[in-house]
Amino acid sequence: MTKHDLAGYRVVAVHAHPDDEVLFTGGTLADMAARGAEVTVVTATLGEEGEIIGEPYQGLAVTDQLGGFRAWELKRALDALGVRGVQLGGFGHFRDSGMEGSPAHDNPRALVNRVDEAAQLLEQQFAALQPHAVLTYGPDGGYGHPDHIAVHRAVHAAAPQDLHIWWAVFERGAHYSGLESIDAPEGWSLPDQAYLDNFTNRGADVTYELSSEALEAKRAAMRAHATQIWTADGTLSAVNPYAAQAGLRAPAEVPGAYALSNLLTMPLLRQEFYQLGQGTPQETLLGQM
Ligand SMILES: [Zn+2]
Repeated sequence: MTKHDLAGYRVVAVHAHPDDEVLFTGGTLADMAARGAEVTVVTATLGEEGEIIGEPYQGLAVTDQLGGFRAWELKRALDALGVRGVQLGGFGHFRDSGMEGSPAHDNPRALVNRVDEAAQLLEQQFAALQPHAVLTYGPDGGYGHPDHIAVHRAVHAAAPQDLHIWWAVFERGAHYSGLESIDAPEGWSLPDQAYLDNFTNRGADVTYELSSEALEAKRAAMRAHATQIWTADGTLSAVNPYAAQAGLRAPAEVPGAYALSNLLTMPLLRQEFYQLGQGTPQETLLGQM
């Protein structure tokens, strides 16, 4: 691979909430950008209804400041990945719909109530950006979040027939085995199989190996999402108010661990995984030559 072997290649990742771009696709996007591709992350909402990790930030929800704060976190994360960002319809246009049955679902601004409009706006983005490939979620939204499913539908409604679409997944087998080499930090726990089966998908058509640089960019982007992700790397900061340290028994294969607000330990893997959503399989599609 040469340094700019992806010059002229355009990829768009479409995500529902700030932090999804990192957790599902961050290493891939950082690697492709470093290799010269034009990478754009389109984010649909500001994550106003998401869970908050860490006491210092709990008041953001009470005062309804969370969306603005997450817009700033997203900007820092995109900078860490080295990619540009677009907020679909502008900042605050679509609101996080929350989980099924929550009052947030009834908000007329909620993304789930405006999928057709989101598709129209995405059509304009695709026409302007002319991507070779689009990365988004599969039909289940990765783990069933209604906004992820809404994004999946909008992407497929907006995409021309010849546009390659890849579905980012947390691959189940890789996460099972990744967890086997991690000891949870004090105060965190390991997810049970039911949780992992809900959160992960079986199988992948493309496994994207992350370079060391891409992995470090992903870590930095994760740390930018202070209200959503803790990394178990022993650091103490505004992002990590407790210096959690996971035991890494095979750091060459599983180089880190992190948790969301449920404090269930997840492995940080050296790969990201994709299933084929639309288009024919091409080994070179994601630049894995
Ligand atoms: Zn999300």
